Amino acid sequence: MSDPKFDIPFKSPNLPEMLTDKALIKFRCYKGISCFNACCKRADVTLAPFDVLRLKKRFGMSSEDFLKRYTVPFQMDQDGVPGLKMRTDEDGTCAMLDGENGCSVYEDRPTVCRYYPIALLNMRAKDSTQAEENYSMVREDHCKGHLEDREISIDDYRDEQGCKEYDKRNRDWYRLILKKKSAGPGVGRPSEMSLQLFFMASYNLDMFRRFVLSDNFRKTYQLNDVFYEAVETDDLILMDFGFQFLRQVLFGERTIEEAADAWEKRVAERKAVWDMRTQAELARKHKEEDDKYRIEAELGSDSGGDKSG
Ligand code: SF4
Ligand code: SF4
Repeated sequence: MSDPKFDIPFKSPNLPEMLTDKALIKFRCYKGISCFNACCKRADVTLAPFDVLRLKKRFGMSSEDFLKRYTVPFQMDQDGVPGLKMRTDEDGTCAMLDGENGCSVYEDRPTVCRYYPIALLNMRAKDSTQAEENYSMVREDHCKGHLEDREISIDDYRDEQGCKEYDKRNRDWYRLILKKKSAGPGVGRPSEMSLQLFFMASYNLDMFRRFVLSDNFRKTYQLNDVFYEAVETDDLILMDFGFQFLRQVLFGERTIEEAADAWEKRVAERKAVWDMRTQAELARKHKEEDDKYRIEAELGSDSGGDKSG
């Protein structure tokens, strides 16, 4: 199962034929088809935040445990924006495949698996601020579903496969990525801290919850008790807040009110760190100079001894 979904707009220089949700496709997949599970034995499944949330909930695991056990990180673009893929064995078989029985997490399978063999393309026209969702077909030789005699619109296929709920939940995250891509190299590479925050808010919700509920966070942002009570227990509210928070981190969108003196405090903290670094650098330079003069003095006294001898 190839995953072109996130290759657009990151990797593919050639745009495939674009389809709207009204387009009719000829496809059917069912248990018993000759190629059953062939796609899951060549799995390349990129995970979006709601995929991770559903799967970790299914397993009753913490985000950390789920990430460690079932996923591998990768870089989504040249700036190192972190992505996540489902783990496979060495032959490419998905960790969720249960032998000949098929997908062991079928009800909670990720977006990419639901869409296959359709790819969702999140794009933005050059002169537009609006993100558009289009689709394209993926044709792989091993997939015999294309030979089946059934026509269905992409819209109905999305309904049938339960894609719409996943799209609704992940949409703001897709837009975030698209905006990052559209911003181009002019905005510069996000800092290491921003990339770590991106990973945490996108995939490691349990850690993000601890971060949001921390004293430091509460001191920095003006959010009320109702908000904190909600994010303490509700993963969906926390995930949505994470996307909003990332827009603030990555693009400086000031939608989360900061405490009145948060900026001044941060400037003071950074200045203290800067002063410490400057002092350390000065001390290092002084030591280098001292060592140099000490060595020169020793050499001088040695050669002086030679002369006198
Ligand atoms: S999650 Fe399920 S459907 Fe998706 S590749 Fe793995 S086994 Fe196949
Ligand atoms: S028809 Fe395609 S999607 Fe369905 S099992 Fe076969 S390879 Fe996988």
